[in-house]
Amino acid sequence: MIDTLRLTAEDAIGLVERKDVTASELHGSYLDAIAERDPELHCFLRTVDEPSGAGVPIALKDVISTKGVETTAGSRILAGYVPVFDSTVAARCKQAGLSLLGKTNTDEFAMGSSTENSAYGPSRNPWDPTRVPGGSGGGSAAAVSAGLTPWALGSDTGGSIKQPSALCGNVGLRPTYGTVSRYGIVAFASSLDQVGPVARTVRDCALLYSIIAGRDPRDATTVELPQTTTLPQDDRLDGLRIGIPNQLGDLTAIEPGVRSAFEKAIEHARELGAEVGECDLPLSFEYGMPCYYLVAPAEASSNLARYDGVRYGPRADGETYREMVERTRDDGFGAEPKRRIMLGTYALSAGYYDAFYGQAQKVRTLLVREHGDALARFDVIATPTSPTVAFPLGDKAADPLAMYACDLLTIPSCLAGLPGLNIPCGLSDGLPVGLQLIGAQFGENTLFRAGHALEQAIGFDTVPARLRRPGTNGAA
Ligand code: GLN
Repeated sequence: MIDTLRLTAEDAIGLVERKDVTASELHGSYLDAIAERDPELHCFLRTVDEPSGAGVPIALKDVISTKGVETTAGSRILAGYVPVFDSTVAARCKQAGLSLLGKTNTDEFAMGSSTENSAYGPSRNPWDPTRVPGGSGGGSAAAVSAGLTPWALGSDTGGSIKQPSALCGNVGLRPTYGTVSRYGIVAFASSLDQVGPVARTVRDCALLYSIIAGRDPRDATTVELPQTTTLPQDDRLDGLRIGIPNQLGDLTAIEPGVRSAFEKAIEHARELGAEVGECDLPLSFEYGMPCYYLVAPAEASSNLARYDGVRYGPRADGETYREMVERTRDDGFGAEPKRRIMLGTYALSAGYYDAFYGQAQKVRTLLVREHGDALARFDVIATPTSPTVAFPLGDKAADPLAMYACDLLTIPSCLAGLPGLNIPCGLSDGLPVGLQLIGAQFGENTLFRAGHALEQAIGFDTVPARLRRPGTNGAA
């Protein structure tokens, strides 16, 4: 019997390699954990009974197409859709021997910050089930924290890996745009979407990134990594230059408890030998969100046009083709995708294109430059990941703008195409606080090095307090 709560993927791989457990016993132990804890947390939309590989299990966010396994993107409009092919990331996991444990819950089409927009009901935070796990990849993040999978994949358009990792107290990487294939990923906003790992440790996160990253002939936006991914070992940060944006001081949205955990993490970085200085991102925090909420819905309005009742999922009745399509889309999409399709269509329409979409593209270029200037002087930029800790279910569900503000700190670097790593850096009122480290393009190794050293120094216990049991440590 394996205790999955504290098991890292690296340890799990060791157990399988030494033949201490079989892949099928391990798969079974995670299914047992899911049976015990997932009725409360609802991280999984569906599980897979038999192991598909000889290695350790993995959970995939339900926007990731899996051959023969239903893939709904958290939407009714894709109910019953069973892909006949694997996404490239799912195929790479298979090639590495990873075994699909199940598909995790997500806000519909990855639009949201709490999983409350899932058509299949919200997930809950393992630290406090009355609170959200973040989103859109709340299912993957909560599953890792609750020991329901050793690791998982999410997708991040404006924060959907980093923010749920912050709220659930684990490690999440949004990779450099173009390093991970989007082939077979249900598209939200194609110039922003990136798949990335969620894990219990930075080393697990780096290992999973090395499995999924690299050029894919099926996605023309991917590139070969300029360097191989290295598993971090270093406990020191000597010579690492960390920039803190001056603008953080003025952001009243950042809760005091989040601010103080962030400041303590920066203290740790100084003690480890890092050089900490100030940088400037004046446009990012002012215009990042409005820019994102034009670019992302514009791309979404085009990407979601394919759901017409002909190609995928359920079809509504109608006298005419037009009536059938209208009813299918009306029944199939929830409120948030509808809102974004309308916003995006408006921003792209003749007469408004220059004022909205065109203008947002220009702002995006300025954000790219502003990050480039800061990263010419610093190796990483550090901010809190989320301005708040996990909030109660229902708190922001009726107020789209309050929900959008959850990504204030994660969005700007996404627009700039840069990698970002969340690591847990402490607690505020018993709930995890996340530290966001942003790197230069292809700077993943630097993020892993910094994240690993800080992780050792901070010593955060990733097992949610209410799930801790005396004497549990890996195999029992
Ligand atoms: N919360 C943001 C949104 O709703 C980001 C989502 C994401 O990264 N997929 O668009």
